[in-house]
Amino acid sequence: MIRVRFAPSPTGYLHVGGARTALFNWLLARREGGVFVLRIEDTDAERSSDEMVDGILQGMRWLGMNWDEGPDVGGAHGPYFQSQRFDRHRAAAEQLVATGHAYYDFTPPEQYDEARKAAEARGEVWRYVRGEWALPDAEAREHASNGTPRAIRFKVPEGRTAFTDLVKGPVEFDNSVIDDFVIVRRDGLPIYHLSVVCDDVDMAITHVIRGDDHVSNTPKHVLLFTAMGAPVPAFAHVPMILGPDKKRLSKRHGATSVLEYKAQGYLPEAMLNFLALLGWSPGDDSELHSIDDLIARFALDGIGSASAVFNTEKLDWVNSQHIMRMDTRELARRVEPFLRDAGLWDDAYTGARQEWFCAVLDLFKTRAKRLPEFVERGRPFFADVTEYDAAAQKKLWAAPETRDLLTALADRLAAVAPFDPPTIEPVVRALADERGAKATALMQAVRLAVSGSSASPGLFEMMTLVGRDAVLARLRRAAAHLS
Ligand code: GLU
Repeated sequence: MIRVRFAPSPTGYLHVGGARTALFNWLLARREGGVFVLRIEDTDAERSSDEMVDGILQGMRWLGMNWDEGPDVGGAHGPYFQSQRFDRHRAAAEQLVATGHAYYDFTPPEQYDEARKAAEARGEVWRYVRGEWALPDAEAREHASNGTPRAIRFKVPEGRTAFTDLVKGPVEFDNSVIDDFVIVRRDGLPIYHLSVVCDDVDMAITHVIRGDDHVSNTPKHVLLFTAMGAPVPAFAHVPMILGPDKKRLSKRHGATSVLEYKAQGYLPEAMLNFLALLGWSPGDDSELHSIDDLIARFALDGIGSASAVFNTEKLDWVNSQHIMRMDTRELARRVEPFLRDAGLWDDAYTGARQEWFCAVLDLFKTRAKRLPEFVERGRPFFADVTEYDAAAQKKLWAAPETRDLLTALADRLAAVAPFDPPTIEPVVRALADERGAKATALMQAVRLAVSGSSASPGLFEMMTLVGRDAVLARLRRAAAHLS
């Protein structure tokens, strides 16, 4: 049974890189019928906050990456907040001392400070040497039993440490490059390496999929797993995500928090599709995938070893494709929050006027990159038009006869039945003909009157959906505006 975990530190929001790491874990679990654990690594009390935890959970929920064990849902291996597991980590460290894999270090911090400073003054880098400051056995035993403050250090064995990374291939380190590292600080705080391994053991994690900034930590982790007598999980270190300038993706490149993408109107399924392709390939050059499709096709050996480049145009394209393919009634649910925020929502859009609302969305569906475009471009459908684009006015309403044409058109359109493109179009063309005006010029003038701008979907479709009463009122308002 595959058990994977996503282990974010809540020192920031869920960012794109974290979400992609989470996704690879989630996809593997879903593909293999395994378990996806969410563990919050809130061990840095000063930099972690409930707000960040909340943001991470929200981001995960928005993307639909549900967890089988973790915050809110619980599970048999909890608690799932690392800070609530410190006692367990300390007990594991004591166990390592008892089995000879770790030892107490009573050296006062000042002694380390001095040694570091002295080395620095000599232009050297200070290195810890096991036993250098070891106390005589009797003294050490006494300190051990009377609670003298002590750190606990892991006793790095001689030899080499090797593991096979499922992305990078075989990795091997000479243990001599690893000093006896601290696993519990003098103040009793367990160190990350101990906590993460201890939790992975306790949560029976079989595959550790994480960012490749952790590769250099992994030998320490392998040594700890082994010393604890636990099976070493499989590792897959995922290459980092770069910005278009090939530098590590950061704020400089734009939004990095997943929830910012939600706010900008990306669909979660498009985001997942896009994130999956940042470093993973299905083995062919297909680019559009539903979530079910990703689950069906995901495999760790599809993760490449080269860094992936985050390209916003690609994301926009993937999003537009998902929008285009989405059932319009579902799309309506996704657009709703944006219309609400703009104060343009009407409950009838999911009730009596649902069909009308979907017809409006259909006008833009094949061209929209992001959801707010339905608000911007749909505005003349969802609200009255009382203002006109200034540049368009100058250009499209310049002819002196415009006012009379708009009024005449309103009069004629009052009588056509039904009110739809095949009946409206000939009326507009006939009027232009009779008055010696250009049909296209009249249409442009009408477009501005009905939509407030020079850009709109097909004029006659728009007029039909805006409805006769509103169209007549807007034509007359524009005429009044021109007098
Ligand atoms: N909490 C660590 C981080 O956010 C992840 C540790 C791990 O995945 O092993 O970088």
